[in-house]
Amino acid sequence: MSTAPWTIASVRAALAQKRISARELTTEFLGRIKRRNPELNAYLTLSPERAQTQAARVDAAFSRGEPLPPLAGVPVAIKDVISTRGLRTTCASKILESYVPPYDATAVERLEAAGAVILGKTNCDEFAMGGSNENSAYGPVRNPVATDRVPGGSSGGSAAAVAAELAVAALGTDTGGSIRQPGAFCGVPALMPTYGRVSRYGLVAFASSLDKIGPFTTCVSDTAAILATIAGHDHADSTSAAVPVPDYAAELEKPVQGLRIGVPEEYFGQGLDPEVGAKIEAGIALLEGLGCRRVPLKMPHTNYAIATYYVLATAEASSNLARYDGVRYGLRAQGATLVEMYRHTRDRGFGPEVKRRIMLGTYALSAGYYDAYYLRAQKVRALIARDFTSAFETVDAIVTPTTPTPAFRLGEKTADPLEMYLADIFTVTGSLAGVPGISVPCGKTQTGLPVGMQILGPHFSEGRVLQIGHAFEKAGGSSV
Ligand code: GLN
Repeated sequence: MSTAPWTIASVRAALAQKRISARELTTEFLGRIKRRNPELNAYLTLSPERAQTQAARVDAAFSRGEPLPPLAGVPVAIKDVISTRGLRTTCASKILESYVPPYDATAVERLEAAGAVILGKTNCDEFAMGGSNENSAYGPVRNPVATDRVPGGSSGGSAAAVAAELAVAALGTDTGGSIRQPGAFCGVPALMPTYGRVSRYGLVAFASSLDKIGPFTTCVSDTAAILATIAGHDHADSTSAAVPVPDYAAELEKPVQGLRIGVPEEYFGQGLDPEVGAKIEAGIALLEGLGCRRVPLKMPHTNYAIATYYVLATAEASSNLARYDGVRYGLRAQGATLVEMYRHTRDRGFGPEVKRRIMLGTYALSAGYYDAYYLRAQKVRALIARDFTSAFETVDAIVTPTTPTPAFRLGEKTADPLEMYLADIFTVTGSLAGVPGISVPCGKTQTGLPVGMQILGPHFSEGRVLQIGHAFEKAGGSSV
């Protein structure tokens, strides 16, 4: 096999020149998963039949002389919080251990319609709550770069699958950092689109005002290709925006010269690992070398973002997760009365972090505390969003570290939930503001751990964020 990872373009070229068939490629990837997954635990469920049926369909259409669709034969993985028809969707929770959705999420449907081959469902933190993948009911994922370390979370399985070349691309979800942070920890590009850019029909809700679906890939042009496929309005999701989808592939090639890059001082202070800080500085210098202009910024409400996020996200989660009561789907434990049945089901079905969040969120929403917590947090969210709006009056994009540290060791932060929450410090701000952001590989630490640089842009500016990420990658950003 070639040593360069497969990309959407190389799959396409190989199919077009008949060097490989979609079925052979699918078999190759399923074989890799069989060999490597027992160690990494990136996939929870495989879908070999669905994958081979789709690959055969792609091969048959091509041999009839039909043109290859944009993602023809591209092997992809789907985070297990995204519904797949006939294919178990557990949310990495015991409560949905045997739940099989009767329909596909729109994003999944669009990928398959474009010719992609779905290999299976990836591990994650339970209901996407976490930043290390250690909250999965089915065991943690290991970081393929350093297997004693976490891959990040919550979309750790998707990031690890792409980094270990067990998929060419994967879908994840980002509520407070769950795409960008594992992308940074595993050393692959990872995009959180604008709130509303990608339909969430079929996504199991965690915090509905924050949840987004987005891709992991091995290069930024693939990020653009996946986004182009899944973006756009969907009548089945009223929160999806009716904003036209630009030609992202064309945007990629625009010159970055003259772009004003904001560098907020609040992201470079206490708590930032010096090695990470040095790599991001080198990354910014690389962008300056490409003709971008560095503009110092102040984003004064950054410090309140973690507290705000953890009030809002837990409040919304407590409401969203009320539906798992043992009645309509998922686990049902026995109980002498209805209330006892609810209690036993939820006690057995949910893991400790999910329970913690339901309790925090219920408290924040309860009578007498609502104004002090939920309402107050909503107001602070508006101030954080305003920091972004005013920044984007003077800059075209904002560059920060994606995470304060590189991937930490398995078990290192599990004893202290607060420490785990603080690791989200650089990602929750963009989430609260609803703006798009990509994490791109930005060199490695001395011990070889990937560092991620976050590029944030105004609402619906994915094209520009991808353009900067692509220029950075082409200029050698992954080895600054
Ligand atoms: N780490 C954050 C949390 O635990 C983000 C999770 C996410 O984006 N799904 O809430």
